[in-house]
Amino acid sequence: MKNQKIKDTKALVSKRGVKVLIEDKLRASEEIYRRLFETARDGILILDSETGEINDVNPFLVQLLGYSKEEFLEKKLWEVGIFKNVLASKEIFKVLQETGYVRYENLPLEANDGRTIEVECICNAYMAGETRVIQCNIRDISERKRIEIADKAIALLEQEKLKIRFIADATHELRTPLAIIKGNVELALRDKNKQSTHVETFKAINVEVNHLAELLSDLTMLTTESQNIQRKISKSKVKLQDLIFFTAERCATIAKDKNIMIEVGSVPDVTLVGDGVYLEKLFSNIVNNAIYYGKENGHVSVEAKVHKKYVIITIADNGIGISKEDLPNIFNRFYRAHNAKSVNKDGTGLGLAISKWIVEAHNGTLDVHSVLSEGSTFIISLPCSE
Ligand code: ADP
Repeated sequence: MKNQKIKDTKALVSKRGVKVLIEDKLRASEEIYRRLFETARDGILILDSETGEINDVNPFLVQLLGYSKEEFLEKKLWEVGIFKNVLASKEIFKVLQETGYVRYENLPLEANDGRTIEVECICNAYMAGETRVIQCNIRDISERKRIEIADKAIALLEQEKLKIRFIADATHELRTPLAIIKGNVELALRDKNKQSTHVETFKAINVEVNHLAELLSDLTMLTTESQNIQRKISKSKVKLQDLIFFTAERCATIAKDKNIMIEVGSVPDVTLVGDGVYLEKLFSNIVNNAIYYGKENGHVSVEAKVHKKYVIITIADNGIGISKEDLPNIFNRFYRAHNAKSVNKDGTGLGLAISKWIVEAHNGTLDVHSVLSEGSTFIISLPCSE
């Protein structure tokens, strides 16, 4: 009997011990979560999921919105004044009650001092013991927004700078031929024996007027808005062989002056779908450059092969080449590499920009490899049909 009593007392003591242990653990866990809640760098609101009443709010949100803790507690979510649109916030709460989850990327909240604060808000419903609560995590994204707006402004400014630069370069290019025309006209007008100079004057003017016309058509092409490019490109069937042999033949005259051989290798019998006039301009730009920037007695080779649904055309020369510093810029409008100035070519620096424009309008790519003083290889890749 005595022994039984001792046993019962021991069991009671150990049950109490377990209870104390569990209570301790619970207190510790409560303490940890309370600290997280108090020190979080995001705002946290705990709501009663039945009524929408605010059960708790953390110091970060109190500070962010400028309302005291008392102004939040025991008020319904939409009664505090942080939502501009009370009806909408009641609607949000309804959705939350039904689905247990809402997320807003950009929610404007109104601070106590009238400032609008953009926040990202994620609300979840869950059971805390017997009661269903809703926890809203609120992140201040005003700084992120400010950075996004600043980035956009910088990008716009860069675009504007590029436009201004383009206009300045274009103006410079147009001024030179106009000055030559003006000079010739003035000279002709001053001349006593007018007949003798007129033919030469008109010849000189004609050269410059042609140059101006070409420049203006290139500029028009380059300033076409990207959404209008496809409309400018006609879509007809163009045989690659015709294109390449025709270009090689046309360029042979200038090649002859420098005793440069144009070697056309194997060209597959494929058809491109595109604008014959633009494609011809593309090939003659690249082949002409290979000749102009080629060395006397040099050679230019043109090869083509089909790879998957593309035809890859390679135009290689053993000319003056392009330095590593110039290489990234040669497709920019008006860019002329340093050693280009030593070459007898009345260039504008628009040819490659236009070539790239044409290639991209045909959904292709244009690349270059080059070694200074050794030569350059331009690689055009265009979609083709058999
Ligand atoms: P440009 O009217 O000056 O020839 P492009 O746009 O056609 O204008 O070419 C831009 C620059 O790229 C040229 O000024 C030249 O420096 C360089 N370049 C183009 N093609 C070649 C080439 N085949 N060999 C060496 N340099 C080249």
